[in-house]
Amino acid sequence: MDFRLTDEQSQIEAMVRSLSLKEFAPRAAQVDEESRYPAENHRLLADLGLLGMLYPATFGGSEAGPVSYAIALREVAAGCASTGVGMAVTNMTGEAIFRFGSDAQRSRYLPMLSGGKGAGAFALTEPGAGSDAAGLSTFAREDGNGYVLDGSKAFITNGANACVTIVMALTQRSPRRISAFLVERETPGFSIGKSERKLGIRGSDTVALSFEECRVPKTAMLGSPGDGLKIALSTLDGGRIGIASQAIGIARSAFLTATGYARDRRQFGQAIGEFQAIQWKLANAATELDAAQLLTYRAAFLKEKGLPYSKEASMAKLFAAEAGNRICHDAVQILGGYGYIREYPVERHLRDIQVTTIYEGTSEIQRIVISRALHG
Ligand SMILES: Cc1cc2nc3c(=O)[nH]c(=O)nc-3n(C[C@H](O)[C@H](O)[C@H](O)COP(=O)(O)OP(=O)(O)OC[C@H]3O[C@@H](n4cnc5c(N)ncnc54)[C@H](O)[C@@H]3O)c2cc1C
Repeated sequence: MDFRLTDEQSQIEAMVRSLSLKEFAPRAAQVDEESRYPAENHRLLADLGLLGMLYPATFGGSEAGPVSYAIALREVAAGCASTGVGMAVTNMTGEAIFRFGSDAQRSRYLPMLSGGKGAGAFALTEPGAGSDAAGLSTFAREDGNGYVLDGSKAFITNGANACVTIVMALTQRSPRRISAFLVERETPGFSIGKSERKLGIRGSDTVALSFEECRVPKTAMLGSPGDGLKIALSTLDGGRIGIASQAIGIARSAFLTATGYARDRRQFGQAIGEFQAIQWKLANAATELDAAQLLTYRAAFLKEKGLPYSKEASMAKLFAAEAGNRICHDAVQILGGYGYIREYPVERHLRDIQVTTIYEGTSEIQRIVISRALHG
């Protein structure tokens, strides 16, 4: 066992940290304030090869691997949580196309995604099917040499900015069979709803999608008929390592602000960091950050080695999201009134981190995945 990063992983960490500090962090408050999708950040991610980290150069990727990807995503999210989730879903979409797609699909979409031509989106959730994703009702009717999609999706990250969206739809009602389709933005019958107004990650693009008589060719199917749920669940396993990393990045930023503040702020004639009540909060936060990081590295390491990692990814996401919420909450408390106002970034971190316990499976759903794995 070796807890040190490789030279390549250290270089990626240093490169992305410096990009994030220089470009993403300074714009994050304004992106949040204006609920503005930061397209310029997406461009910078593409320029540095950070949008196709999980597939090879033959398809425009950088094939940096799951550990480097987790590191890069953490660093991006530490600067701007909204940019982090956009990056996560684009990488996740590309990886799913690489794993399950035909060579024609790989050659068409992967260079677009890694090159920043558009983001990638993954549309599973529907107004009536969230945690119970298999209960979706969007239907794809087979018709001649194609499929015709009807239905709607809710809360789709990158939905308005995606060049390709993976859409899960029923292709048979009884017994239920779910299939996955690659749908391009310009496809007639595919429309993008209004942007959701959110508590946090307000610069991320979250929209409803609707499909009305939306015809796609048979070649738009990802994998084989009936593969949709398998594709969705295994894609989410990898996605959860990304969300764990996003949570760690956000929480680390809140922790660093709180640490600096505790050193500088004086009350009752001493730095507040000298009060044991504050020290314990910071000690707990430092320990939980490390624990979240170790769980996340383990899941990414297993994935990199081609070993089973579903339970470990759920554990990492569950712990990082829950601990991250506690850390951001304590950071606001440590800053007192200054934590509650927009002059300091910790109130934004607290708003941004909440969603990590919700998307890509709520904390309750992670516990179900973990307990199922315990019972074999
Ligand atoms: C900002 C944002 C971005 C998102 N991006 C995407 C995206 O890109 N693609 C996509 O497909 N989806 C996306 N989602 C959707 C997200 O994955 C769902 O919101 C999430 O899975 C929960 O579904 P729901 O909101 O319908 O809640 P529900 O499933 O209705 O859950 C409500 C509550 O009930 C609990 N609950 C449900 N079932 C159980 C159970 N069996 N046991 C115990 N408790 C349970 C939940 O944990 C939760 O606390 C996004 C959501 C948000 C907010």
